[in-house]
Amino acid sequence: MLRIKRVALEFMLNLARNMYPREFIGLLRENEKKEISEVLLLPRSTYGRGFSSIDHYMVPYTVKYVGSVHSHPTPNARPSAGDLLSFSKTGGVHIIVAYPFTENNIGVYSNNGEKLEYEVVE
Ligand SMILES: [Zn+2]
Repeated sequence: MLRIKRVALEFMLNLARNMYPREFIGLLRENEKKEISEVLLLPRSTYGRGFSSIDHYMVPYTVKYVGSVHSHPTPNARPSAGDLLSFSKTGGVHIIVAYPFTENNIGVYSNNGEKLEYEVVE
């Protein structure tokens, strides 16, 4: 099962709260234990109401990442059609953090939009 470090999850929730009502987007990195442990925010990412996108030219070639995270200013944590398109370009694990940005308001998806089981680890 997919494992997400609690500190990384809390970081995402805090970012989402701070950006609200705009969305934030970042890339997910994992540690040597294959736990999602870090969020990489990218310069020139577009943060907007109802949309957010990554400028792919700003991702350095040397950066390894396993997926993406972004927030939704609504309680709907399901991926939009646009989300599914960008999921397919940015790795295999995608987290959506939905309003009001607690651990109960997140969805984790594969790159084709299927819900993934996950656990939060210390
Ligand atoms: Zn979205």
